[in-house]
Amino acid sequence: LIQVQSLSHPYGTEASLQRDNSSTGSRNGQGFKGHDMLAPFTAGWQAADLNPLVIAKSKGSYVYDVNGKKYLDSLAGLWCTSLGGSEPRLVAAAMAQLNTLPFYHSFWNRTTKPSLDLAKEILEIFTARKMAKVFFSNSGSEANDTQVKLVWYYNNALGRPNKKKIIARSKSYHGSTLISASLSGLPALHQKFDLPAPFVLHTDCPHYWRYRLPGETEEEFSSRLAKSLESLILAEGPETIAAFIAEPVMGAGGVILPPATYFDKVQAVLKKYDILFIADEVICGFGRLGAMFGCDKYDIKPDLVSTAKALSSAYMPIGAVIVSPEVSDVIHSQSNKLGTFSHGFTYSGHPVACAVAIETLKIYRERNIVEQVKNIAPRFQDGVKAFSNSPIIGEIRGTGLVLGTEFTDNKSPNNPFPPEWGIGAYFGAMCEKHGMLIRVAGDSIMMSPPFIISPEEVDELISIYGKALKDTEERVK
Ligand code: PLP
Repeated sequence: LIQVQSLSHPYGTEASLQRDNSSTGSRNGQGFKGHDMLAPFTAGWQAADLNPLVIAKSKGSYVYDVNGKKYLDSLAGLWCTSLGGSEPRLVAAAMAQLNTLPFYHSFWNRTTKPSLDLAKEILEIFTARKMAKVFFSNSGSEANDTQVKLVWYYNNALGRPNKKKIIARSKSYHGSTLISASLSGLPALHQKFDLPAPFVLHTDCPHYWRYRLPGETEEEFSSRLAKSLESLILAEGPETIAAFIAEPVMGAGGVILPPATYFDKVQAVLKKYDILFIADEVICGFGRLGAMFGCDKYDIKPDLVSTAKALSSAYMPIGAVIVSPEVSDVIHSQSNKLGTFSHGFTYSGHPVACAVAIETLKIYRERNIVEQVKNIAPRFQDGVKAFSNSPIIGEIRGTGLVLGTEFTDNKSPNNPFPPEWGIGAYFGAMCEKHGMLIRVAGDSIMMSPPFIISPEEVDELISIYGKALKDTEERVK
């Protein structure tokens, strides 16, 4: 017996499975029910019957729970274990660094060789435009918080104290610290947290299928959104707008691809009003889209870039902010005047995280990871998109190794299923039953498998998707 509870979730709806032990075995079998953790992005963590899926081991594209049940990890952890769950070279890199220098910091002109080497590597691998400096954080959220501080510091240095507002987009996800949650355009991240902060504005989500007008082409839709962005800038006063932040492909908001010409038109508007472009490459970066960065794929010339996740294949927590020469020159001249640049974390440039990231980037280069993603992507994209004509699917969209499915009635963006039916959650639960983990947010589901996924594993992913879809269609009937 499988019961699916549709629970309200900070950015969507999450399935909570409760299993009859006699048929399937208990979910974790080891007494983690009603556990002691205040669990992130989990609904009902305070409930005594909360019954988490406890993952104990990973191998390649698979993870195993504490009972030994095997799951194809179609989300690569949280869009991050790009090299899969058992890359020995990353383990060896971490061990070697742990045995030499497990920690030293990067404050006050002291640092470590791995952090210097990694900064150099990142500047070499990012080629969408010439960049000058790298600042290390521990996460994508901290990277995006840092971006806002850099932008403010920059405008203060330039004597523009009013140019401080940041424009983000509806449905974006930029993290969950105070500033990065403010930037995020998902209401659940704001509700009851007194967010967003007043300096953050949100402009349109570029989801063509959902928000186009009747008869509007993608280009016309992009023009309309660029115009709307410009109207917002003019209404607020361009002298108050410091930066615009965007994921090249929106991830957690439902895998939303930019419509044709969107970033060209947006960049032209930003340039006109001297507004910086922050590219949030936390999901897109290092190959996921079949290009090394989303900026390469969509011809974005950013002033600032946030990265994390695949930077270390998630084996160690690390994020990196990449800064253009124009911005870093101003920041350096200001910090020289003040005597210091007063921003940083104890673990900025942590040597073990940096050593793992250096090895990760080395593997990407040696294995030509972008080509590998490009080669496997059509099998993944075409295989899943073949289910597009299901009567309960509104849209399947994606590129490279990232893909989202939105369930709607009548194939229309305007006919959602009643939320209490928990269609997305049910689909997620069925995937889990058949041995695959996906991301559920309301009636959108998302997948972003490891870059190393094999053709056979892609076929298995498609087969499980098909089974879960059949189960879900039967439930809707
Ligand atoms: N930016 C994007 C685009 C993300 O998808 C995420 C996390 O999913 C973040 C930022 C936040 O990263 P972290 O969870 O490492 O703080």
